[in-house]
Amino acid sequence: MSTPLCPVCQAKGRRLKPLTVTSLARSEVLARLTVREGFHYCPTADCAVVWYQPETGEVVDKSELKVRVGMKETVDPRPICYCFGHDAAEFEADVSRQGHSDIPAEIAGKCKQGLDRCEEKNPQGACCLGNVNQVVQAAKGKRAPAPAQPFAQVADTACCGVEENEADDGK
Ligand SMILES: [Zn+2]
Repeated sequence: MSTPLCPVCQAKGRRLKPLTVTSLARSEVLARLTVREGFHYCPTADCAVVWYQPETGEVVDKSELKVRVGMKETVDPRPICYCFGHDAAEFEADVSRQGHSDIPAEIAGKCKQGLDRCEEKNPQGACCLGNVNQVVQAAKGKRAPAPAQPFAQVADTACCGVEENEADDGK
């Protein structure tokens, strides 16, 4: 069984429960949607689609949610942990101050106690810890001296001189 892809960026998204859609979509968006089930979350940072429904073709854009989708924003506030209210800037401040952040362990502890409400609060309908680690790792990368980048970024030029429009995988 193949995973249905985001119609805009072609990324593979995971399927959401209807609860995520009904909790986080603006009311006028809910009124517009013909279904609540079968939506998938698009994980691509620079794709404005948050949810897509492959059977009906319906999509919900990040501006149509009640919350900001921190993983798809470059300007603060960028909420990452919706259950316990942590913003990307908090993790970045921790890393720049002390080289690491204690918040992820704190979040994991609260999840273990069953205090998380990811399906209701997080637009991706799942635990934020993967995103948290991504943000922390990116912040650590910025803090460390950048390693030399030997030619890995140089794109092949096609023989006819037309360059392929490759997806930007810069993180
Ligand atoms: Zn997408």
